[in-house]
Formats: sequence, C-alpha cells, structure tokens
Amino acid sequence: MNPVLDGEEAFHLIRVLRARSGQTILLMDGRGTVAEARVQSILRDRVALTVMNRTHVPETRPFRIVVAQALLKDAYMEDLIRRWVELGADECFPFVSERSVPILEGDRGRKRKQRWDTLAREAMKQSGNPYLPTLHEPIDMYQMMDALRHCPVKLLFWENESRMLSREIFSLPDRMEGPIDIGVVFGPEGGISESEVAAFQQHGFQTVSLGPRILRAVTAGIVGLGLVGFLAEETLSSDNVSPPGCSVQT
Ligand code: SAH
Repeated sequence: MNPVLDGEEAFHLIRVLRARSGQTILLMDGRGTVAEARVQSILRDRVALTVMNRTHVPETRPFRIVVAQALLKDAYMEDLIRRWVELGADECFPFVSERSVPILEGDRGRKRKQRWDTLAREAMKQSGNPYLPTLHEPIDMYQMMDALRHCPVKLLFWENESRMLSREIFSLPDRMEGPIDIGVVFGPEGGISESEVAAFQQHGFQTVSLGPRILRAVTAGIVGLGLVGFLAEETLSSDNVSPPGCSVQT
C-alpha cells in the first residue's frame, strides 16, 4: 500500500517532526490499526509513504469507559481531552449544566470542537493508544443522561458523597455478554447542584467520592478516570472473574 498524506498530518510530519525520505514512521487509524511506513518522497505539502507492515491491536478490555464532563474553561477542557485519550476513554460527552461554562454557539463552537479533535489525535500519537475516543459535541445534561442510559454502571463523582469509589462498584451480579459500558460523570468547577444530583440519582447514577478534599475539576477528572480504568480492569478482567457458582477457597 502506498498512501499519500496531506493536510494537517503531512504538515505535522514535514514541519514539526522534520521527516526525511527513507525515514520510518508509525501510522495509526484511531481504530486499532498500527502500521510501519517508510517515507518515499516529500513534495511540498504532501508525503508519499510505503506501508511495510500492518497490525491490528485488538481491544481486550471487558469494558468501555464513557466519560461526561460539565463544560470547563477552554484551557482546562483541552487538558482533560488529552488525558481522556491517555487514560483510554472510549466515548466522551462534554455537557451543559447549571454551573458549567457557557456553550459557544455557531462557528466558535465548531472551531472549538475541531481543536478538541486535533488535540485528541495529538494525544493518540503521543501516548501510543491506537484507539481514538469518540468525542461528541457539547449537549444538555439531560440528553447526556439519556446517552448514558444503557450503561450498567453509572457513576457521578460528587464531593459531598461519603461512599468512596471502590472495586465493589464494578462487581456486577451477572456476567454480561461483550464489553460493559461504564458511565462516569464529573461536574463543573462550580459543582453540581443538589437538584441536579437528585436528577442523576433518579436516572440510576450512583454518587461516589474521591476522598474528603474538594478537588479541582481537572484533578477529579484525571484521578477519577484513572481509578475507574484501574479498578474496572482488576474487577472485570476475565482472569480475575470466578466462573458462575464458584467461590475461591483460601
Ligand atoms: N464547587 C464545588 C466543588 C466542585 S469540584 C465546591 O466548591 O464545593 C468540581 C467537580 O470535581 C465536582 O463537580 C465533582 O464532580 C468533582 N470532585 C471534586 N472533588 C471531589 C471529591 N472529593 N469526590 C468526588 N468528586 C469530586
């Protein structure tokens, strides 16, 4: 296969990475395919490549992480988007709540989403995660709850909760077919109001804590997502699951 790169990716390769003919680079399609390719030629803003070998990195996790974050100021939101990719989120929903940063309408909103997509691709290349999460445009909080309705585990991180995030949350009574979707929601810097928390609970969300201190939204987003990935992996990975009806005797 001899693909030709143009646009943003070619620009990155020529101007930022200063690629030269003969050099070997790694290509990723964001859906698990990773290929080694040689730079054949560079013509102005286009790069001709020869693919030498191609592999598919299978998705082995028994769960998918669906993360939702109430809109924060641009710089914080951008930081989180990079972290979502690094930490292996599968689907991301920025959302509007009572105290979130106002949504940008029209062109400005579209530009910001484009910037988020670029940041996600950069983070994918930097972290070597061959899967690019699906990043949605900002939606209303109730639409977001609806989008997460199917998740068997739905968590709202809330600083006023005393129940800590723990392994037990991921020990589901029935082993389900296929990967389990885990929904995780983080509030804005101004917090989630009591009435919003009540609405989440009515929609089947469990409120969970990250400890007694009030964390900045970005800190909570990073630590919370990292812990969910870690605990879910430990609890749900097939090696760690006893067959139905068996208990481990010690
Ligand atoms: N404005 C609130 C704090 C909001 S912190 C206040 O000052 O009281 C921003 C978000 O980070 C929260 O909505 C929550 O989702 C998350 N968060 C912060 N600290 C947390 C904690 N200790 N446990 C769980 N979530 C937390």
